[in-house]
Amino acid sequence: MERSSWAEPFKIKMVELLKMTTLAERKKAIKEAGYNTFLLKSKDVYIDLLTDSGTSAMSDQQWSGMMMGDESYAGSENYYHLEDAVKKYYGYKYLIPTHQGRAAEHIISKIMIKPGDIIPGNMYFTTTRLHQELAGGTFIDVIVDEAHDPESMHPFKGNIDIQKLTDVIKKYGAKKIPYVCVASTVNMAGGQPISMENLKAVRALTLKHGIKIIHDMTRVAENAWFIQQREKGYAKKSVAAIVKETCSLTDGGTMSAKKDAMVNIGGFLAVNDWDIFEEARNMVVVYEGLHTYGGLAGRDMEAMAIGIAESVSDAHMNARIGQVLYLGDKLIDFGVPIVQPTGGHGIFIDAKKFLPQLTQDQFPAQTLAAELYVESGIRSMERGIVSAGRNAKTGKNYYPKLELVRLTIPRRVYTQAHMDVVAESVAVVHHRRAKIKGLKMVYEPKYLRFFQAMFEPIK
Ligand SMILES: *Cc1c(COP(=O)(O)O)cnc(C)c1O
Repeated sequence: MERSSWAEPFKIKMVELLKMTTLAERKKAIKEAGYNTFLLKSKDVYIDLLTDSGTSAMSDQQWSGMMMGDESYAGSENYYHLEDAVKKYYGYKYLIPTHQGRAAEHIISKIMIKPGDIIPGNMYFTTTRLHQELAGGTFIDVIVDEAHDPESMHPFKGNIDIQKLTDVIKKYGAKKIPYVCVASTVNMAGGQPISMENLKAVRALTLKHGIKIIHDMTRVAENAWFIQQREKGYAKKSVAAIVKETCSLTDGGTMSAKKDAMVNIGGFLAVNDWDIFEEARNMVVVYEGLHTYGGLAGRDMEAMAIGIAESVSDAHMNARIGQVLYLGDKLIDFGVPIVQPTGGHGIFIDAKKFLPQLTQDQFPAQTLAAELYVESGIRSMERGIVSAGRNAKTGKNYYPKLELVRLTIPRRVYTQAHMDVVAESVAVVHHRRAKIKGLKMVYEPKYLRFFQAMFEPIK
């Protein structure tokens, strides 16, 4: 017999106690939060699956790195450690630290995008697209059609449709396309990976036209694990080697280190082009801080450098994604409609299928996230029409095909028993789904409305 189960490659040194709430308390809390899980107070939450961003557990190594913070204004030792880690694990030449991912997106968008430009990408991400638009660009989705189909079992639903990209280049001309934005994995598609074969094809096509590739590398290590598991020729390669190969096919990356790299705050922009680096180094001083700290404390950069190394470990990734797949399998067994195959950082419940009685204007995913909270104290988030926002030019709502509730799993935080409780709680809501009514929006902020919008139940 051979052993097939995995276990966490760590043991627990410190714990944080959880608080349980009553049904009455939760009903009051969600009402006060305008039925938006982003507006709940975390003290009212039992299991927090709002996001995997900045919520992972740091290792003892990372915490001891925090004590080694060199808080000099300029030239902090920790900056050089981070620079070494970025070169060693990702292979990019030049580093600009930023306080988180969107700051890197802001800087690269301002430098590379001119008004009227087109930025093709494998599905949008909220902050990424907004910075492209604020710089005067227009995002065009060139992801494969399978990404929009929650039931397609395509192993690489993050792939770019080469024909769609070719058509965009033909239609607008290469001069109008400063870069293609390639995300690994694709968050909004449900944490779905892009294959190395596809990335190579994108590289070949864009090189022919002199178009650069900027890599949204927020979850590149998770993407690498999927390549190792699913792509021919990669089974014997390490996650670390695959991460490096992925980055080598791109010209630079924006990183939210709050994801893969398991820090509470931090990110960076990394590029290979000296001219872009020089401009970015200039700009970071205006918006973030000196180029050797970019809005971070020295200790944050140290924890990030250590987290990067930990993130590319095969044992870590086996347990990290193993836990997500475990929850996915449980939900599938309960008959809950989720995006398949299960993605890397969370479970995405198909809210259109879960609540077929609601129209998209009644916010099925927003409704379901609120219901799940009331049922169990579990906090999830909407990834559907609220997150998609409005078209910047026409002011009309986007109607995304995918209307999802995301159960995002922080790294190294919850146990398998927590996953059992989550699966059963979702199953209980699923059981009474026919009685659930929708929501109406009563307050809408101008930008990234999903964070602060407020709702009321439809009578
Ligand atoms: C989180 C995230 C970002 C933005 O990073 P922040 O650190 O939240 O600013 C960009 N792209 C993807 C895919 C992300 O998941």
